[in-house]
Amino acid sequence: MTLLPKRVENQPVRMPMLIALVLVHTLALAAPFTFTWQGFSVFVVMMFATGCLGITLCYHRLLSHRSFKTHKLVKYFLMLCGTLSLEGDPSWWVATHRLHHMESDQEMDPHSPRVSFAWAHVLWLLYDDERSHDPAAQARFIPDLVNDPWAKFLARFFLPINLGFLALLYGVGFWMGGFKMATSMIIWGGFFRIAWVWHITWFVNSVTHVLGYRNYETRDDSRNIWWVALLSFGEGWHNNHHANPSAAKSGHRWWEFDLTYGIIKLMQVTGLAWKIHPVVSGQAPGVVKPLPGLQAQVLER
Ligand SMILES: [Zn+2]
Ligand SMILES: [Zn+2]
Repeated sequence: MTLLPKRVENQPVRMPMLIALVLVHTLALAAPFTFTWQGFSVFVVMMFATGCLGITLCYHRLLSHRSFKTHKLVKYFLMLCGTLSLEGDPSWWVATHRLHHMESDQEMDPHSPRVSFAWAHVLWLLYDDERSHDPAAQARFIPDLVNDPWAKFLARFFLPINLGFLALLYGVGFWMGGFKMATSMIIWGGFFRIAWVWHITWFVNSVTHVLGYRNYETRDDSRNIWWVALLSFGEGWHNNHHANPSAAKSGHRWWEFDLTYGIIKLMQVTGLAWKIHPVVSGQAPGVVKPLPGLQAQVLER
């Protein structure tokens, strides 16, 4: 059994990424010993701000698939939320994700579990893929982001912004209750929350291409699985998403709860979101075939 694809066999491991992964996970293990209700509250707020608003709503549905439109300032705030997830800057994330849709479960997919589950979940991050950051590739894959000044700023200052936020957590905690509270804040609001959101996002790359049921006969192995959908604010309906990538709504059957779509609808009601892409049947003719019983929901506009 091999863990890695052939294309990276002679590539060196990205040491800064390996160090970051080990460091964050090691510090996250301190969570049970540093629990305070204040730290836990910051965990919940920041988990939602970075995991739901930052990654699912912004990096994925707004930036990668342009499934709705919003005001520039709202978009920029959401991009900052995504940056604080420590999952890479918006341009890198969106380029990687668009590649995933272009090459889903094929040889050049950045993270297919056909290589190995561990590769799809985390190992792929340890190897450089120039398609995600090379200027020529970015001009091709993210022409809409490549000249965005805020995206450029977040890419350039990605690490200082995240380190600054961790220092802020520590400082506020220290002001609230000395060393003990400061430690609780930085572990719960910082490292444990980062590790949590990482694994939720990684589950979408690994688990939802392996486990669960399918509503659509797509070319890839994408599947729908309820517990990933709950943890990831709707992203676990991943087979629906691969069948209709630009749709704002990922839950297509009535029981497929999609919190992020609820937020988009709430934004619409309050004038913060418009041009919301509907679920369209047969977006990729001959490839995406809804299975029996789904036609009515698929045609909803
Ligand atoms: Zn996928
Ligand atoms: Zn997607």
